[in-house]
Amino acid sequence: MSDRIARRGVIIIGGGPAGLAAAVRLHDLGVNDVLIVEREHRLGGILRQCIHDGFGLTRFKRSLSGPEYAQRFIDDVDDRGIDYLTDATVIDVTADRIVTLVCTAGVMRYGADAIVLAMGCRERTRHALSIPGTRPAGIYTAGVAQTYVNLQNTMPGREAVILGSGDIGMIMARRLTLEGAHVSTVLEILPYASGLPRNVEQCLNDYGISLRLSHTVVEILGDARLEAVKIARVDDRLKPIAGTEEICPCDTLILSVGLIPENELSLGAGVRLDPRTRGPLVDETYQTSVEGVFAAGNVLHVHDLVDFVSMEAERLAKAVVIFLDARKKDHSDRGRRDSVGIIPIIAGSEICYTVPQAVGGHSDFTLSVRARQPLRDCTLSLRTERGCVHRIHFAKMLPAKMVQIAVRAEWIEGAHELHVELSGALSRRMMKSFAPGENQLGPDTEPLQAKPGDASPEGDEVRMLSCIMCPTGCDMRVKVRLNRVVSVSGNSCKRGEQYASSEVSAPVRNIATSVSVEGGELPVVSVRLDKPIPKNKISDVMARIAKLKCTAPVEIGEVLLADVCGTASNVIATKRLAGCQLKKG
Ligand SMILES: Cc1cc2nc3c(=O)[nH]c(=O)nc-3n(C[C@H](O)[C@H](O)[C@H](O)COP(=O)(O)OP(=O)(O)OC[C@H]3O[C@@H](n4cnc5c(N)ncnc54)[C@H](O)[C@@H]3O)c2cc1C
Ligand code: SF4
Repeated sequence: MSDRIARRGVIIIGGGPAGLAAAVRLHDLGVNDVLIVEREHRLGGILRQCIHDGFGLTRFKRSLSGPEYAQRFIDDVDDRGIDYLTDATVIDVTADRIVTLVCTAGVMRYGADAIVLAMGCRERTRHALSIPGTRPAGIYTAGVAQTYVNLQNTMPGREAVILGSGDIGMIMARRLTLEGAHVSTVLEILPYASGLPRNVEQCLNDYGISLRLSHTVVEILGDARLEAVKIARVDDRLKPIAGTEEICPCDTLILSVGLIPENELSLGAGVRLDPRTRGPLVDETYQTSVEGVFAAGNVLHVHDLVDFVSMEAERLAKAVVIFLDARKKDHSDRGRRDSVGIIPIIAGSEICYTVPQAVGGHSDFTLSVRARQPLRDCTLSLRTERGCVHRIHFAKMLPAKMVQIAVRAEWIEGAHELHVELSGALSRRMMKSFAPGENQLGPDTEPLQAKPGDASPEGDEVRMLSCIMCPTGCDMRVKVRLNRVVSVSGNSCKRGEQYASSEVSAPVRNIATSVSVEGGELPVVSVRLDKPIPKNKISDVMARIAKLKCTAPVEIGEVLLADVCGTASNVIATKRLAGCQLKKG
């Protein structure tokens, strides 16, 4: 290792959506000396393997796949000539902002005026859960299974059980099913689905995959290869109930049991962590407890939507510019800060966490909040010692969905504390297990009391639908007469009505999958349809796409197969792969 320490303005650790968005915005705000350090061979972060669509609805007002979303930012980085190192892993960060990394050229050290932590998060593993039993092959985290299927074209198994109903688990349940595996069930230890309602609907319900709430795996069975898991119902304290055990035969167990911010580098730099988010404590500028070290994205708190990751990183970039300007003016550099802000934000009992956790109170800021359990008819209040300063009503708040509130500095002027409180009734609509073919929505309470199939007083059928057009997942009560929608209630916008209409008369879905590639850096390229297709055509279309082959290079948006199965929908590539000629499809 050379003793020489090269100087850079800002070093960004991690080339995922947070790091890329921060780099682009910093450049656009006039900071030219930016270096992104990424340990993988390519920029893009976890989005490279998230080939399903649903990204970008807030930021780009379009439903993109993960690789398409990432590519927009990678192109922005390239267009601006922002420096980045790939195949380079940061192994140490110090409180005086010295970054040590290992890359193909060896070990290198850089000093930086500011550092942005954007390392994302990692999955909890079976070890973290300590499931008793043998140690056979066939147990994967959802992210690893996703890498196998989506990047390496390898199926992890044929008969799967999924433990955890977070979004990644449900997305993998659908993905494995589309690729021909049988997913018998998704087990969730909590009494409610922990992912978004739209994923319950479009990843489980659509494919007849059962969801068993208040259930967990209590034993792993099998020698060389997994043969079965023993499952059991759990009580209110999440302890298995004796006598409820069942054997579920399977050759694959997918663990989707939570994500944890990558915090080793943060801890090494002396950054104080929040025990609830397990990421750094930050103020409204996303500055940690170490001066000049900032954090955004999943390294700070695990986000539900990538759009919020990008927007958070862009706000961080603005704060870094202000920090660098101030530093230039007064040449100050205090290193370790005593606290991240002078006004602590105190979360009430129904709140899982807030980010930031404390603020200076000089500027407006965005407050991210997560509920502890699913609530409906909720009121979120901000209170200082002078009383309530702001109140917002939400039809429902789910632990899976982060809520963001724009807080004005004037509301907390002169305050010593800011309390964030949430009240509401427990929502039972996400709290019902279902077997294949059943509708997942449980009854909530009046007035949404009708059960699927009930008749209204006028003789119309009443159906309960969960809108899948955006992550809000509005619970809708839909009156149907002769297979046509007569009225819809419970939707927060017009798109709910359109969805209900189409869902009742001719349901459609988009699908995302992959196509084999010859001569590319990966054996597959991700694809999606450019228009949704009738739901009942999904298996025909998947069978047709499975036969498709192409040769690298492939460009994003390239049509690999037109008018698939006469649906008027085209199969388009969603990733750029270097080198190619399309073979006959
Ligand atoms: C399976 C799955 C499905 C998802 N589905 C959706 C969805 O439908 N819609 C949606 O909006 N969002 C979805 N998300 C969320 C979204 O993908 C994440 O919120 C987003 O990718 C987080 O961005 P990030 O930059 O913080 O982290 P990441 O994307 O994880 O990027 C972090 C980067 O840092 C790099 N890194 C880490 N440590 C080091 C180090 N020491 N040195 C150098 N580099 C390092 C990593 O290699 C990685 O590239 C999904 C996520 C997953 C996992
Ligand atoms: S009705 Fe509107 S707000 Fe509600 S889930 Fe559908 S698109 Fe989203």
